[in-house]
Amino acid sequence: MAKADYEIPGLSQYVPVPKLEPGKMEHSSPYIAKPEHNADLGFPGELVDDWHDKAIAKMGDLLKKYRSLQVYMDICVKCGACTDKCHYMLGTADPKNMPVARQDLMRSVYRRYFTWPGKHFPKLVGARDLTREVLDEWYSYYHQCSECRRCSVYCPYGIDTAEITMAGREILAHVGMGQKYSNEIIGKVYKIGNNLGLPGRALEDTLEGLAEDIEDETGVAVALPMDKVGSEVLLITPSADFFAEPHVDGLMGYAKVFHEAKIDWTVSSYASEAANFGMFIGSYDNMEKIAKRIRKGAEDLQVRRIVHGECGHAWRVAYSFWNTLAGPFDFLDSNYPVPQHICELTYDLLQAGKIKLDPSQNDDKVLTFHDSCNVARGSRMGDKPGGQFEIPRALIKASCNNFVDMAQDTIHEHTFCCGGGGGLLTDDLMEIRVKGAMPRMQALNEIVESDSVTHVAAICAICKTQFAKTLPYFNMGMDMIISVHQLVGDALVMSDAPEEKEEDEDET
Ligand code: SF4
Ligand code: SF4
Repeated sequence: MAKADYEIPGLSQYVPVPKLEPGKMEHSSPYIAKPEHNADLGFPGELVDDWHDKAIAKMGDLLKKYRSLQVYMDICVKCGACTDKCHYMLGTADPKNMPVARQDLMRSVYRRYFTWPGKHFPKLVGARDLTREVLDEWYSYYHQCSECRRCSVYCPYGIDTAEITMAGREILAHVGMGQKYSNEIIGKVYKIGNNLGLPGRALEDTLEGLAEDIEDETGVAVALPMDKVGSEVLLITPSADFFAEPHVDGLMGYAKVFHEAKIDWTVSSYASEAANFGMFIGSYDNMEKIAKRIRKGAEDLQVRRIVHGECGHAWRVAYSFWNTLAGPFDFLDSNYPVPQHICELTYDLLQAGKIKLDPSQNDDKVLTFHDSCNVARGSRMGDKPGGQFEIPRALIKASCNNFVDMAQDTIHEHTFCCGGGGGLLTDDLMEIRVKGAMPRMQALNEIVESDSVTHVAAICAICKTQFAKTLPYFNMGMDMIISVHQLVGDALVMSDAPEEKEEDEDET
């Protein structure tokens, strides 16, 4: 079991609602971005002198721009339905991690500056001034929310705490308190093309190496092309797919599927990143700039389709916002969805009989599936509601004979966040990541014990990294986490694979 200098929540047969411990996580804050990282994104380098007035003015802008934010500030009736729905509250016991309390961090300031009773009788309506302490509290607790939207599923008014978190982060960035992890990464996308800062030449070498690995494994020469003008498909995938485990096995799975289906595809060295951290920091401008890179990458390579690899929030951005951010995508082939998820593509090929899967290839495994938040609650797949739940499961079941779902109140739209989403996947937030992972780990551990589950599959790069890191804290192996397209790739029947030589019978 991995060790930590803080208390790791234990796993029991259910997730208990903890006895509240006020202030338990007030020490948790991510590193603040360096001036150059803020400047790259169009924000002030450090906290500006007139931060108070600027923050209030920005809040006023956001209230006008996003009517939903104004409504969320006004309509909460304090019914309490959301209070025990956040994995960070369940894992930390800090009452400020209750979704309604997270909202109130901003609501109290909103009341003070934007409502008549708050301006005249602040104490009576729970209104408070925006002080430096309040700003620091925002920075801390708006980085203890993974923008997972689980709480909104249970709110009778549909209040979306994630949107409030995004607004909080946007105001903070606007006055010079950006988050190091997210802002540095966005800067790398602008300068180099991907979150990792992997230049084109290194990417090409990586892809060549992966092609060799596939050939060694299958005997089939499978191409992983880069910058191939005129290809049918541009693959947009999280850059973790190029080297991290278990992500890279998923990428090799996509390559095998494209090869078997004879789909001519490429990645782009210019737009070599699916992730869009602009959403995490609540910045429409940065989200737009990143989305437009992908559009330009597709236009430059003259592709006819864009296919998304396994990345949760990137899929949400593409599915829900691309058209507004960078559309219309009328230069692409209208016979295919824009964008299209790799799971949709593989599922359609399977339905059409264009690829075959042999599930016995994964008989050494018992699988479950983790629904990633941004796919489950922020998008869809296929042509019917719930396709985002059904399609990945259909692929796993076609690739593996043994599948067990986790408890019903922890899957589909009720899924628990892995604990590392929303820009929290950084080592300076390890404590909140481990504690917030507890509810997901509890549901997983339950079926490990009852059904001997050996692996959990996911279609999100962040979930895969977070699981690999946090599983050992809960006494499970980091290699339990697996890419859905690794399962697909391992089960795929490759029609041009060399026939296996029959072992010589010993006739002597
Ligand atoms: S969006 Fe997710 S992380 Fe944020 S308060 Fe709601 S449940 Fe918690
Ligand atoms: S469930 Fe909705 S209305 Fe009820 S306390 Fe939470 S945010 Fe407010």
